Formats: sequence, C-alpha cells, structure tokens
Amino acid sequence: MIPGPTPVPETVLKAMGRHPIGHRSGEFQAVVERTNAQLRWLHQTSSDVLVITGSGTAAMEAGIINTLSRGDRVLCGDNGKFGERWVKVARAYGLDVEVIKAEWGQPLDPEAFRRALEADTDKAVKAVILTHSETSTGVINDLETISSHVKAHGVALTIADCVTSLGATNVPMDAWGLDVVASGSQKGYMMPPGLSFVAMSDRAWSAYERSDLPKFYLDLGPYRKTAAKNSNPFTPAVNLYFALDAALEMMQTEGLDSIFARHARHRAAATAAMKAIGLPLFAAEGYGSPAITAVAPDGIDAEQLRKTVKERFDILLAGGQDHLKGQVFRIGHLGFVCDRDVLTAVAAIESVLQSLGLHKGTMGAGLSAASSALNS
Ligand SMILES: *Cc1c(COP(=O)(O)O)cnc(C)c1O
Repeated sequence: MIPGPTPVPETVLKAMGRHPIGHRSGEFQAVVERTNAQLRWLHQTSSDVLVITGSGTAAMEAGIINTLSRGDRVLCGDNGKFGERWVKVARAYGLDVEVIKAEWGQPLDPEAFRRALEADTDKAVKAVILTHSETSTGVINDLETISSHVKAHGVALTIADCVTSLGATNVPMDAWGLDVVASGSQKGYMMPPGLSFVAMSDRAWSAYERSDLPKFYLDLGPYRKTAAKNSNPFTPAVNLYFALDAALEMMQTEGLDSIFARHARHRAAATAAMKAIGLPLFAAEGYGSPAITAVAPDGIDAEQLRKTVKERFDILLAGGQDHLKGQVFRIGHLGFVCDRDVLTAVAAIESVLQSLGLHKGTMGAGLSAASSALNS
C-alpha cells in the first residue's frame, strides 16, 4: 500500500516473463504500434506519447530540456518533495526559476499563478512547471485551473508531473491544454518501475525547435521520429513493453471512468476511516489525492505504527518524507488496488493502534466507515 512501486497484476507479470525479442523485429513493432495508440487513449490526447527507458524523473527532465533554453524564466509550483524536485531539475539546467510555494499539506494557489502570469507583460515566462498529485503530502493540485491561467498568458507552456494522477484521476491532456505530461510505469500503470512516458503537445514541439539545452539520450526528437515508425531510438526495455501492452489492455477493459471512480472510492474509504478513528488527515480538506492518503496521527509515532503494521500484517504503508518522517504515514491506493486491500489496511491500522493502546475511538469504527464509503 505504497504509492509506487504499486502492485502488479499476474497478467502483467506473465506478459513480462517471455523471452525478449529483437527490438527492430516486426513482432516488436506490432507491440509498439498498439501501445502508442493505448497511451494516447490514456492521456486523452492526439499528441505523441513517447516511451523512455528510465524512471519518472527521466520523463520530467526530458520535458524540461526539450522545450526550454538557457536562462529561460519559469514558474515552478512547490508544495512538497516532488515540487522541490522540479525546482532542482530546472536550476540544474540554468533556468531562471521563480518558485511559487504552498505549505506542505496545502494545495498550490491557482491565484498566485494567475497574478504572476498577469504581471509578466513582456512575456518572459516560458513555462509553468508543477506537480499534479503531490505524492509526498497526498495533495492534488488544481492543474486544470492553473493550466487555464497559463493559456491566458499565451506564451508559457504547462509542464506537469502527472506521475501519480495519470491512471488514477481525469487528466485530459488536450481538453486542459497541457503541453508536457510526464508519468512513470510503477505508479498508475500497474507495472514494475523502468519505463517513463512523456507526452508533448504541438506547442511543446514548436518550443523544441528553439530549445538549446544540452541533451542526447533524452532528446525527444529521435523518439518522435522513430515512434512514427513504431520503433525506438535505442534498445528499449523490451520486456517492460510486454508488460505495458498487457497493463494498458487491462485498463482499456476496465475503462477510464471506472478506473477514476475506483480511485475516488478508495480515497473516500481511506479518508472516512481515518477520520472515524480520530487520526487527522495531512492534506487540506477537499484536496486529497486519489492515489494516496496522508495521515498525521497527532502524538503517535507514525514510524512505529508503520513498522508494526508491516511486522504483524505484512502490509507496507509509506512513511513521511524529510521533515515529516515519524509524523506522517501514507496509505497508497494507486493502481492495481481493490476494495479488499483498503479494508484490510484499515483493519490492520486499527488492530495495531488497539494493541499499542493508542486507539482513540471505538474499535472497528474505521472499518465501518470505510465499508460504508465503499458501499455508497
Ligand atoms: C514517483 C514519483 C515521481 C517519479 O520518481 P521516480 O523515482 O523517478 O520514478 C515523480 N513525481 C511524483 C509525484 C512521484 O510520485
């Protein structure tokens, strides 16, 4: 029950267990052709979605270095660990970064972006870079509204880390006017780590033509050219492509709306349960991520709780990152997660609280709340 690597269905594991095949073979091209179409479906876009062998950060870095140039001014949203990572990547490439911050646990304020963009009358800002679902704090940012402010600016691109939102909640790339969408296989895709995905709009490709940041392995030009011929510039992780093919087929069978509804129900169940047993949520009310519920169990050592849940029930919860270590635990409900997983995690948390003498309410209240959220 961590937000990645997430559980992998047996169908996907079996697909991966095949002997690798030549990445220039017709047989492999057929896999690439299928997955290219499926990835467009998942991103709700007619643009290219390119596949990189690497973790999610590779897709984030690719999004920046393929669209921006030395010294470009960018606005970076930062309300958690992954927002911080964007700032670091942008600074590593010598961009002129203005950070728009929110406290950990709070959402980014779309108005702060609107004001900064409206003040930029000489159109110096070339991109707004942000994280949709901030995994470290369990907060979902209002990407749709922020992207609409970027559109009103007219020049800047919207570059979004959708690593724990894609495949968990609606991220309609074209409808929201997103220019770069980055994601990774070990999250909503129900796959092991190793592939990352970067979708680029036509506006992003125009910016690519001007971009002068150094790049070679992550130069998306060759990825685009080869993708058009159902191929890759380098040897891709062939067996992960088999997994991708199987996972996306499962997702298409379930359907986007059902996938999003399932994640919303699991969020509702996890949050209702924690409230019912008196454990405060860390994310601001109304901004809970559909991928992960962060809990700040006031006066309880979150690491001890986590460790005991793992020892007694073999259920792994995520801890707090950086200054939140010991203060926060996080229940991942991303990807291949079913009602049973959520109910079991809630019951395990309650049982451990009871055994430690820390259960503040009525034993079973969390389970009951989770169950009614799942049944409603
Ligand atoms: C997991 C994650 C990433 C990617 O991290 P990698 O370890 O490089 O795969 C990026 N952003 C968010 C919000 C994430 O949850």
